Amino acid sequence: MRFHPDIRGVLFDFDGTLTLPGALDFPGIKKALGCPLDEPILEFIQQQPPHKQDPLWQVLIRHELKAAAKSRPNTGAEPCLRALKEGGIALGIFTRNSLQSVQKALLTFEHIDLNDFAAVITREDSPPKPHPGGVLAAAQAMGILPALLVVVGDFHFDIIAGNRASARTILLTNGKLPQIDEDHSCPDYVCTCFEEILQVLCRPPVFSRRLPA
Ligand SMILES: [Mg+2]
Repeated sequence: MRFHPDIRGVLFDFDGTLTLPGALDFPGIKKALGCPLDEPILEFIQQQPPHKQDPLWQVLIRHELKAAAKSRPNTGAEPCLRALKEGGIALGIFTRNSLQSVQKALLTFEHIDLNDFAAVITREDSPPKPHPGGVLAAAQAMGILPALLVVVGDFHFDIIAGNRASARTILLTNGKLPQIDEDHSCPDYVCTCFEEILQVLCRPPVFSRRLPA
């Protein structure tokens, strides 16, 4: 498979992108933490008084590891990753989850393991998305410019982080209606599934809007 020459790496969100959506029960976790439904979890914990943070992290980690154990590879994710790797494209993961959860969930993949990724950026490594730091750190670890990187994710934080880092972005909808905020999280492309992502990465005109000069 031949990919567009201006694409050297693809950086994937993990939960709901490389894994089937639904394993992480965000409303349930927020309820267990006392986190309002409209607030992001990591930021909520970080805003609590120092003595309250540690027990909340433990609750979060317990839920995340339970979800990781029952998570499954997303439909088409493994063939897509293999095709990219065989086409010479560097692979990366960037997630607001922990490295331990990623390692655990990847055990459920049959044809892909942690060593297939040139960069694995978890919340231990950089400020969480939508901060662009994780994208920039991944690009550096992969040895490629952010502009030659495509960020793929199922949530607007993924797209905002990619846009802020000057990477190109693909929103994966998993067949649902996309929720796009034109001002902050407009992706270069919207795909319903991994087969479409592969098609997009092979097609030259798609990314012409933000090709480097
Ligand atoms: Mg996600």
